[in-house]
Amino acid sequence: MSRPSSWPIGRPRPRPEGPLTGYKIAYPMISADSRRGGFNGVALGRTQVYGTVADAVCIQSPRHRCPSSWCDCGFYCFHALDDARDLACDPQHQHSVLLEIAASGRYVRYELGLRYARQTVRSVRLGRCGCGRAATALADGGPGIVGWRRLHPVCGLCAGPRPVLTPQAFGTLLGGGLRVDVDEVADDPAAGLFAPLPGVAEGVDDAALVPLLSAEVALLQARLDQVQSRLEQLTRRSD
Ligand SMILES: [Zn+2]
Ligand SMILES: [Zn+2]
Repeated sequence: MSRPSSWPIGRPRPRPEGPLTGYKIAYPMISADSRRGGFNGVALGRTQVYGTVADAVCIQSPRHRCPSSWCDCGFYCFHALDDARDLACDPQHQHSVLLEIAASGRYVRYELGLRYARQTVRSVRLGRCGCGRAATALADGGPGIVGWRRLHPVCGLCAGPRPVLTPQAFGTLLGGGLRVDVDEVADDPAAGLFAPLPGVAEGVDDAALVPLLSAEVALLQARLDQVQSRLEQLTRRSD
């Protein structure tokens, strides 16, 4: 991999050369009062939530500046989007989203990425739902951390009747109307190798699901009416 200068790998640079673009994964979060959006790191700093612009804080020692060469503190990112996508496949990183960031301030350059002091999130890609379809919204993901709930990227089918946050609404909660999109790689399963088995879920989409559910509700109602009238018959007989 080519490097723009001859600064040794692994040593913090005192001054930035201007913001550097990087890619990483993180868990999308919403504050307990649903007023703010944020991100939770997948490795270090799992107990902290950061916003669109954030400065790294060392949890080992408050006495040095991040990133220190003898510590592992600071934000991390990859140079390449594909490396971040690869990391998202690890089972322990399920339900993460992809972030494009601008790294600034002091930083350490490695072969695959950077460790740095200041981060600005430029855009968010939702990636895939657990079912393999492109995620189009964010749903409540259950356990979070103190003050924050975790969100899961979901597709319309898997979200079902659950309330969801649209990408635009999440962007607004992050402040400044940050761009939140469907990941272009996950966007078009029809163009890829995956397709539903013949006769299974063919043509099922959100619009088709509503009449399907309505039909089921009508069926249940009819059965309830049947049971009700039989009960009435029985109680009349025993009078
Ligand atoms: Zn440190
Ligand atoms: Zn799904």
